[in-house]
Amino acid sequence: MSTPRQRRFILAEDELPTHYYNIAADLPVPAPPPLHPATREPIGPEALAPLFPMALIGQEVSQERLIEIPEPVRDVYRIYRPSPLYRALGLERALDTPAHIYYKYEGVSPAGSHKPNTAIPQAFYNREEGVRRLATETGAGQWGSALSFAAAQFGLECKIFMVKVSFLQKPYRRSMIQTFGASVVASPSSETNAGRSILAEDPDSPGSLGIAISEALEEAASREDTKYALGSVLNHVLLHQTVIGQEAVRQMELAGEPPDVVIGCAGGGSNFAGIAFPFLAAKLAGGSRMRFVAVEPASCPSLTQGEYRYDFGDTVGTTPLLKMHTLGNDFRPAPIHAGGLRYHGMAPMISHLYDLGLIEAVAYGQNTCFEAAVQFARTEGIIPAPESSHAIRAAVDEAIAAREAGEEKVILFNLSGHGYFDMAAYDAYLAGDLTDVDYQAPQERELVGATR
Ligand SMILES: *Cc1c(COP(=O)(O)O)cnc(C)c1O
Repeated sequence: MSTPRQRRFILAEDELPTHYYNIAADLPVPAPPPLHPATREPIGPEALAPLFPMALIGQEVSQERLIEIPEPVRDVYRIYRPSPLYRALGLERALDTPAHIYYKYEGVSPAGSHKPNTAIPQAFYNREEGVRRLATETGAGQWGSALSFAAAQFGLECKIFMVKVSFLQKPYRRSMIQTFGASVVASPSSETNAGRSILAEDPDSPGSLGIAISEALEEAASREDTKYALGSVLNHVLLHQTVIGQEAVRQMELAGEPPDVVIGCAGGGSNFAGIAFPFLAAKLAGGSRMRFVAVEPASCPSLTQGEYRYDFGDTVGTTPLLKMHTLGNDFRPAPIHAGGLRYHGMAPMISHLYDLGLIEAVAYGQNTCFEAAVQFARTEGIIPAPESSHAIRAAVDEAIAAREAGEEKVILFNLSGHGYFDMAAYDAYLAGDLTDVDYQAPQERELVGATR
């Protein structure tokens, strides 16, 4: 009898989580609060009320450990949750490693990533409070397609500012957003003051998440019927993503072995938080030596090379100040294919945990990530999103290290999405056309500028 190539751990429908897990309740030290940019005093709920519904503002500052998931939200989750968890026996064999590699697969959602986990409750709470229209930004198009799907589920209109480089590289993400019923425009656009001022400076700007956020915020602030929705970074977004890790805790119990290391790619930090926080709960309670690794692109390394300080969440500087690992809100990330990882900052909650030494971080260039992605595709049969390939690279390196040390190790990573809309990126990789762009610290950027 041959050994199995893969094992799948599936939960029954009634094992769909009933609550979100709020890590704020278990922290040894509370995370620093957001500040008003003028007074530098902690902001109150009224500062966020023009942008978000009260239910989400409440979750943003909540200290309650478990927050109930509303039944209409669970009902939409049932389209794709609980999501499967696999043991990557094919990949293990190819790597000839004693390590056991598991992955939680979020690509089964309507948008093909973890993003609907928060888009769905965000659309629900907005509708509950009478909001009729949502505005947002999208990088690779994943968040835009998630929010447009969620808006359609709850009968809301939706306007998306899509980072220009992705708008051009990923036309089918744009089509998907339009199919779900939202309207979408390339950012920087001429529709907002923020977009017009960037275009005046640089008409060929490839855009960035920071710029697109400024545009969406301006749209929401200037229209009575419109609120804003953010796809990562904020506490309530990370909170919603904990459905991933809660299911994974249960599935690793079914697999019969707890992970030694939990890995996720990190752009704003939400899918990493989603898989990690429910496992971190055990570590915070004491006793667990589990490791947690956030993986970021070498060209946009906010955790490994950014400063930990208060900064704006957007490029123009309209948000409250957030204490986070940041490359500076004027940082313009290189146009790498992992569009969802091109953000200058990192979630305040992730930054705080990193500062406390509870999680680790590594950074990789895009070529080595695509190499791991292709090996994963050939052995496991799923073509990963370029963002997720960063987590795969780190998992493969952990497995290789285990082989070299002759060590049995259990590795779990989050496969945050599939890459079936990213085939142009795979074409470029396979043709040898991808460049690795290293991060330049601000002083180096000035030196280069001075010698030109
Ligand atoms: C958006 C996205 C990411 C990065 O966002 P996080 O908030 O860091 O999770 C990662 N993977 C995929 C597939 C994405 O769509």
